Amino acid sequence: MAAMARGPTSKSSHDGGCACGQVRFRLEREPMFVHACHCTRCQRETGGPFAHHAMIEFSAFTVTAGEAEFVKVPTDSGNAHWVARCPACRTAMWNEHGARRNAVTRYVRVGTLDEPNRLPPRAHIYVRSKQPWLELGAAIPAFKTYYDPARTWPAEGLARYAAAKALRAAQAAAEKAAKATKAAKTAKAAGTAGASTLAGAGRAMTTGAKSRRKTG
Ligand SMILES: [Zn+2]
Ligand SMILES: [Zn+2]
Repeated sequence: MAAMARGPTSKSSHDGGCACGQVRFRLEREPMFVHACHCTRCQRETGGPFAHHAMIEFSAFTVTAGEAEFVKVPTDSGNAHWVARCPACRTAMWNEHGARRNAVTRYVRVGTLDEPNRLPPRAHIYVRSKQPWLELGAAIPAFKTYYDPARTWPAEGLARYAAAKALRAAQAAAEKAAKATKAAKTAKAAGTAGASTLAGAGRAMTTGAKSRRKTG
């Protein structure tokens, strides 16, 4: 087996999956950051004292087997977030915030990884609602609410996040341009009589796409 040639800690990727094994995924590299969130939403969603999340950019995250099902979950900020679950055993594996398919970051639940011990949290957040019996110690920084990533994340993680965000923006722009070209072509093909109606419809479609993206 590959494990014989490569020890479990010699690689930078992380594999994980659901309880039944139908959905498998891989973090292709070390996450940008890892934190434990003690907010009441995370407590409710996980059924535990905190959520343990490894944050990885979409471009370094691969689903290697099966396909996740996404369940929309309300958040305190009012923005939707999506929980990826196995369609068979329903294990929740990761979250995506904002608009589906446009999210920059995957918030992977560290407990679903094969070697969760490799990713201890680097910060505790929302400790204002931490369970009182849980003692955190002083080794890992703790924040009453959220932290400022610019001060807390390592520079490498921040740079990777910025690059992934730019890549998403470029993808969205390319998609928009392709839609506009298609709409213009359709209008041209329809001739002068129906052209204005179709162009109007094309514009409405583009506007709709834009407002959907805005929720992200
Ligand atoms: Zn499963
Ligand atoms: Zn939380």
